[in-house]
Amino acid sequence: MTTGFSQFDLHPQLVQAIEECGYSIPTPIQTGIIPLMLKGDDVLGQAQTGTGKTAAFALPILHNLQPRGKVQALVLAPTRELAMQVADSFFTYGKHLGARVLAIYGGASYNRQISQLNRGVDVVVGTPGRLLDLIQRKSLDISHVRTVVLDEADEMLSMGFIEDIETILKETPAERQTALFSATLPKEVRKLAERYMNAPQSVTIQREQPAVAAIEQRYYLVNASDKLAALTRLFEIEPVHSALVFARTRVGTGELANELTRRGFPAETLNGDLSQELRERVLNRFRQNQVKVLVATDVAARGLDIEDISHVVNFDLPEDDEIYLHRIGRTGRAGKNGIAISLITPQEQYRLRRIESYIRQKITRANLPTVEEIQHFRDNQLLEKVTVWLRRGRAQHERDITDELMKAGFEPLDIAAAALKVARAEEKQRPIDSLGVVPEMSAERPRSGKRPAERGGISRGRAEHARGGNYNSNSEKFARGPEKRKRIENFPAGRQTQTGLSTRTSHEAGMVRLSLGLGHKHGVRPNEVVSSIAYYAEIPGSAIGKILIDEQTTLVDIPEEFARQALAKSGDYRIHKLPATLKLA
Ligand code: AMP
Repeated sequence: MTTGFSQFDLHPQLVQAIEECGYSIPTPIQTGIIPLMLKGDDVLGQAQTGTGKTAAFALPILHNLQPRGKVQALVLAPTRELAMQVADSFFTYGKHLGARVLAIYGGASYNRQISQLNRGVDVVVGTPGRLLDLIQRKSLDISHVRTVVLDEADEMLSMGFIEDIETILKETPAERQTALFSATLPKEVRKLAERYMNAPQSVTIQREQPAVAAIEQRYYLVNASDKLAALTRLFEIEPVHSALVFARTRVGTGELANELTRRGFPAETLNGDLSQELRERVLNRFRQNQVKVLVATDVAARGLDIEDISHVVNFDLPEDDEIYLHRIGRTGRAGKNGIAISLITPQEQYRLRRIESYIRQKITRANLPTVEEIQHFRDNQLLEKVTVWLRRGRAQHERDITDELMKAGFEPLDIAAAALKVARAEEKQRPIDSLGVVPEMSAERPRSGKRPAERGGISRGRAEHARGGNYNSNSEKFARGPEKRKRIENFPAGRQTQTGLSTRTSHEAGMVRLSLGLGHKHGVRPNEVVSSIAYYAEIPGSAIGKILIDEQTTLVDIPEEFARQALAKSGDYRIHKLPATLKLA
């Protein structure tokens, strides 16, 4: 039997595996990438999960494998889940070739991974941190690698893996073939491609445009610390059939789901930590509407195919405009109307404007319901429910109980009022938290110009540092609005450190100042602080604020919402292999 794959002249045992998978026609990304990679070209594929990109790079790599060599191909992926999925695909496509594939990721036993490496592996698929660790321990030899794939490069960079990726690339032979896949192409990804790829051929697969017209998009302006209170207020009055809430980090998803559950809105988490089986179970509960709220990261929500989502909530705005579109496209499907809600801090307004110009649509600003409105809404709901039972007239048993109470001497009005009290007892689980006043700020983009993803926080950090300025990886802190100026002027004069940086005891609103137990003496550089904290605490590098390096210690500003998870990892942080503690400054 000939298949559409016969055009590539792939190894017959590969073709057999492809047929067994039931693929007959190559997808557009496969048609574009496979011939180029077979030729040995470097390729830059702009495609999302679901396009068949894994087979697009896996098949040429497997075709070119030499029997029983050293590690010949290295695939870098942002998460454990993706690394396992990609390794699985390699295994499936390469099974008749006897390809030896290993997935390497953090959190799993070193011993097992090392002993598997010692037995011989052709293709290694892993997350950058653990890969680098094994390379530095000399357990993984990548000096014979012929092809390197950077899968979901945008995701890896936004997770702060840039340094690890660069170190790994430098350890591979210069004449290697490099393939980079990314759903979006922000400046950092293009820079990485320019630096480490050789005349790459581009293949772009247009994403499907979601039918944004069917989606009602609203935003609410809130302080960062009030986002949870705002969301619970909205959940009170929104007609939520099922809601997908996007949070920035894996840890963030767990905390948010717990907090929502505690406040009377049962929620579950979908993140890269779940095993395939658990993930399926969570998704089934969501599909069957046993759980109405799912809190997810972008990575975990990829490939999620659920038709009936009434609300998408951006608890945190995505770093990238295209991801916004991708997120909201999960609602308003199958001819239904959907609602997309974004919770925006004043500092994030310019990002919202950027998204508006990207999607060429205005997002409506709406006001959060007041306490009175929610109480009124609750009263009305209660009235409606009671009226339904009054009209049905099928409450004989309850009438008998009422009769008993009347015989005991209670007034019918008092009995009814007490019964309503009992009926609404569960409202106690849903306290209506107060909201702080939101400062009005200009929605102008910070004058430093570029958007966070374009700025390349780390390299900018280096430049700032070299000039002896305060490094600040958080783009928003470069804002030059009147607010900002005032705050900066209010800083008390600090003492000079040996690095020429001035240590200031104050820090910006919404940030907590932490102290890392390594400093100038240990050769610490700002970018290492960012990548270490971003990696171990799993918070976005771009969220980290000012960094002030002193002789023995380093002060780091972290948004309040991430402080707890950053502190929880104290002792895990490593810079130049030195462990570092993190505590409140
Ligand atoms: P990916 O974008 O690599 O995550 O692939 C998405 C899904 O498409 C996976 O479940 C693959 O098994 C499947 N797939 C990949 N290539 C093909 C093809 N040519 N025909 C049918 N299904 C495919």
